[in-house]
Amino acid sequence: MDEEPLENMTLDQARAEIESLRRSLRRRERDNRVLTQMYQNAERLRQTFESEKQLQHLYNDLLLSNTPNMIILLNENQEYILGSSACARLTGARHTELSLRPFNLLFRPEIDPDWVEKMDRLTREVLESREVLRFNDTIRVDGEPDIHVRTTISPMLVGTVCHGTTVAVNDVTELMLAQQRAEEAARSKASFLANMSHEIRTPMNAIKGLSELLALTPLNQTQKNYIKNIVGSADSLISVINDVLDFSKIDANRIEIVPVAYSLNKLIDEIAGVIGLRAEEKGLHLFMEIAPDIPSHLVGDDARIKQIVLNLLSNAVKYTPSGQIVLKIAYTRTGPDQIEMVCSVKDTGIGIRPEDIPLLFDAFARVDLKANRSIQGTGLGLAISQRLARSMGGDVTIDSEYGVGSTFTLRIPQEVAEDTALAAVENPEEIRVLLVGTGARMENARRMLRELHIAHTLFGEDDSDIGLAKNLSDQSRPLPDSDDGEKFSHCLYTDIIPERDIAQLRQRLPDCRFGVLRSIINSMEEPGRTDAMLFSPLVVTELSRFLNQNRRMTTRRIKQADPLSARIQVTGAKALVVDDNRINLMVCEKMLVLGLYGLEVVSASGASEGLQLCSEQAFDILFIDHMMPGMDGVEMTTAIRSRPGPNRKAPVVALTANVANDMRSYFIKCGMDDFVGKPIDRNELARVLTEWLPPEKVTKTWTKSIG
Ligand code: ADP
Repeated sequence: MDEEPLENMTLDQARAEIESLRRSLRRRERDNRVLTQMYQNAERLRQTFESEKQLQHLYNDLLLSNTPNMIILLNENQEYILGSSACARLTGARHTELSLRPFNLLFRPEIDPDWVEKMDRLTREVLESREVLRFNDTIRVDGEPDIHVRTTISPMLVGTVCHGTTVAVNDVTELMLAQQRAEEAARSKASFLANMSHEIRTPMNAIKGLSELLALTPLNQTQKNYIKNIVGSADSLISVINDVLDFSKIDANRIEIVPVAYSLNKLIDEIAGVIGLRAEEKGLHLFMEIAPDIPSHLVGDDARIKQIVLNLLSNAVKYTPSGQIVLKIAYTRTGPDQIEMVCSVKDTGIGIRPEDIPLLFDAFARVDLKANRSIQGTGLGLAISQRLARSMGGDVTIDSEYGVGSTFTLRIPQEVAEDTALAAVENPEEIRVLLVGTGARMENARRMLRELHIAHTLFGEDDSDIGLAKNLSDQSRPLPDSDDGEKFSHCLYTDIIPERDIAQLRQRLPDCRFGVLRSIINSMEEPGRTDAMLFSPLVVTELSRFLNQNRRMTTRRIKQADPLSARIQVTGAKALVVDDNRINLMVCEKMLVLGLYGLEVVSASGASEGLQLCSEQAFDILFIDHMMPGMDGVEMTTAIRSRPGPNRKAPVVALTANVANDMRSYFIKCGMDDFVGKPIDRNELARVLTEWLPPEKVTKTWTKSIG
């Protein structure tokens, strides 16, 4: 509004003008207040910002002066901008004195110039590549201990621009020393355990061997029982030592897995031989359900697999008061030459509480101590089994119901060495089997026949064994026909059926091949005339072998899977035994001679004496102790093999108290053929003699087992 001179205004106009001035004054005052407020806010903000910056500085300072890490910030010209106080250890100066000094002039003269030169080069590289570099390193310092460091060089990127590098050097000397000390401790623990095990095993050899020899002398029943207990206790002590030794090796990561081509049949036989007797002694039924079409030869560490399966089976025997145990071996094909073998052990035992299951594979863990009070154990078996399985690319798992039973399953990948079925029956359509007997063992045989698709008929399905026997001997009662009316080619009967009745049946079935299903325990008595004996636990390979043998081809009694009452007779063979320990030498010698096998034995108390004997006479087999003072067993073997002489090609069996499971491959690598662990086991000795002596010098006979 144009200003009108006051004197020209009317009164009303003047009033209006004053009112308008007042309004504008009020507006201005308001604006003023807002401005003041804004100014105050800005001032507060400025102050906060300042103190934040100071705080940030303070934090940075604190960090850099207190961190034990050596950190250096370099600009793009490789000059020092900032660093942590810890760097004084390398630079010998406070960081204020270092500002803008070139990197290669930062360090004290004692620091290895090669390291400085290398770091200078690497920081430039990072500046160029803009990629973080991490590496372990050792800084040598003149007159001082080395500093072991872990170094990180990173580019200092702001947006896309690289402003320099950050060098972080962490001293890990203490850590490394601690690690070295721990490794050293583990090594000495392992070697202590190995030595201790060796030291304990040597006298155990004498205790066990001498007890077994004692058992061969005339004794009354009480004395025999004492000896049986001595041998049993020695065995359990040895198995504890083995567990501890194995576990310590696994713990120290020193377990060696040695894959070789092996026969599954042999593995199963060995397992059945060990566990069958133990199960039967406890009154448990043991069944082996082996897939007949599983490849017969595989590549893997059979010794370790055997160890795991035996451990699961012996647990099943230990923790099952009554009922049955089933070992099932099945497989799935995972590739043209690859299978996953699945071995499961199922028991009707005490079972495991769900809350205990996660603990089972811990070392030394034993669960449900109330229920297991009377059962001995170290709690190492499962821990070892699982670790072993895992180191072979497999695993062990559990499924259990408390009070009902447990199933432990080992899954393990194996290569196929020979793709033929483990148990195949030739011309199955021509076979008709007559089964005579009842009970779980007969049921098991029937299951296998079904699996092999073999026609079979049970004699008097509803009869008891006694009724059966009566019917058998009753000549007027007709024999059953096979389903299609063809003649029976084979007859399988249980050892409960009286031999007299079987003899009658034999007359009525003159063309039939007879086989008896025998339990190991009751097998001490001589059976009647029969074509074959099939021992429990019956394995499908045994059954197929029986079915494949043409009827009455041989009337020689064939001893099948019963190593515990095995007795072999050796004729015209000579062995050399070399051992520096007098008692062990005697035990081995006596076991071989008196022992069981009637060998001619020559003994030597050391390698040089042994070598002398070797140059003079020929032996069929050499047993050589591994650890001997002076020349040891391996060196002695090398000497025999490399010198001309009558024993250059003789089989050499190592005798050793160091029976870790990987020893076999070790001895084979060393040019030996086999090994027998101490304490020497009769059955092992029998196995070795059968395997390595010329076949014409070994006959298997059937006699009562001792003890
Ligand atoms: P050990 O048998 O020497 O005590 P293991 O490691 O073999 O050691 O087993 C650990 C624990 O697992 C045993 O103490 C037992 O409580 C339990 N266990 C193992 N196997 C079975 C089984 N088949 N049935 C019930 N419990 C079992």
